[in-house]
Amino acid sequence: MRQPEYLRTVQSFARRELTGKDAYLDSLAEAPMPLYERFAATGLANWWLPKDVGGLGLGLEESVRIAAELAYADAGVAFTLFIPVLTTSMVAWYGDAVLRERHLGRLVADNGFCATLGSEHAAGSELARITTTARREGDTIVLDGQKAFSTNTGFAQFLVVIARAEDDPAGYLAVLVPRDTPGVHVDKRWDVIGLRSSATYQVSLSGVRVPAGNALRGNGLRLLEVGLNASRVLIAATALGMARRIRDVCMDYGKSKSVKGGPLTANAVFASRLGQFEMLIDVMSNQCLAAARAYDAIATRPDAGEEFLRVGTLKQALTTKMFCGQTGWQIASTASEMMGGHGYTHESVIGKLLRDMRYVSIVEGGDDVLRDLVFSRYVVPVSKRS
Ligand SMILES: Cc1cc2nc3c(=O)[nH]c(=O)nc-3n(C[C@H](O)[C@H](O)[C@H](O)COP(=O)(O)OP(=O)(O)OC[C@H]3O[C@@H](n4cnc5c(N)ncnc54)[C@H](O)[C@@H]3O)c2cc1C
Repeated sequence: MRQPEYLRTVQSFARRELTGKDAYLDSLAEAPMPLYERFAATGLANWWLPKDVGGLGLGLEESVRIAAELAYADAGVAFTLFIPVLTTSMVAWYGDAVLRERHLGRLVADNGFCATLGSEHAAGSELARITTTARREGDTIVLDGQKAFSTNTGFAQFLVVIARAEDDPAGYLAVLVPRDTPGVHVDKRWDVIGLRSSATYQVSLSGVRVPAGNALRGNGLRLLEVGLNASRVLIAATALGMARRIRDVCMDYGKSKSVKGGPLTANAVFASRLGQFEMLIDVMSNQCLAAARAYDAIATRPDAGEEFLRVGTLKQALTTKMFCGQTGWQIASTASEMMGGHGYTHESVIGKLLRDMRYVSIVEGGDDVLRDLVFSRYVVPVSKRS
């Protein structure tokens, strides 16, 4: 079947800009902005942004295909390009008309980036324990605190900061902050072990003042949960893309390696491992697409924002990220063993793929945390069990 045009564009970008550049993409160079400018030149930057702010309005199903295709070439590039969806979905559904038009509209016009600042060192995944505060002073909100991890903040146009309301111990806000607001300070860029073409920062907020209207509508922790639905499915899709690449890397290796007078690919043990990979890849693909369709069924409703507030964290987003992270890790680990000593050297790309794959089961909730969430939200209430 002929691929849709957006996918052919992504494939040709990946072939032109990413293929054969593993060492460069694995180098933790300054976030490679010219590369992202060349992606923007394809017309696909922020491909999911709604049409009413000038975006292309592609759905999560298309996004799964794009993220998997990019991740086949480099998961860090894929992550950099899609992670703004977490931020923009919160603004699109819970920002007022002025915020949507000004900030999402500008993002489309400039092919820009944005970032979400949720995680903190001490709170860990217990986000209700965050200590970043939002204090109301007349028509202004003042933010103070430190955020442990935030991808893309270094070159973002705006941030959404999750903070505790200082005047309400049970209240949390999600506040839009233009990146150039005085008091926003990037402390450092993390030296990560994988996804090294992406850029994740520790950030301090010190007396950061924005208009009160920059607070998004609703409880900040709930909005974050809603935003994470799309990005968790896309993180899972990067595991799918990497798993496909690993399969192909193994096939190339097996063709070139001779065992007992024939190519390794003719060996039944090696062949059965690749058959197993293909089965797992097929299930990962179906799972990602099913989760994306479940998400799109809500996202295309006129009352999507309200419905997502009611649903909160989507079961399929949790299970898909967990399943693809665990399965991708199993594939990457097995593949590195299949390549012998060569697989344990930097001569082979498998080490990079293994390190890149590790993030799927950590970022946006480690598996212990997600299992806990699935249990409390979807096992305890009998009606929600599959
Ligand atoms: C490359 C990268 C990019 C990131 N980008 C962003 C970003 O853009 N914005 C952002 O806000 N954050 C970002 N993060 C943060 C990321 O989402 C968190 O690191 C991740 O969710 C894990 O949370 P944590 O680090 O707080 O560790 P924790 O969740 O606190 O985990 C530490 C340990 O405690 C255990 N644990 C915690 N809770 C439970 C539980 N309920 N049950 C059992 N065990 C538990 C874990 O299993 C683990 O062993 C990024 C992180 C990385 C590495």
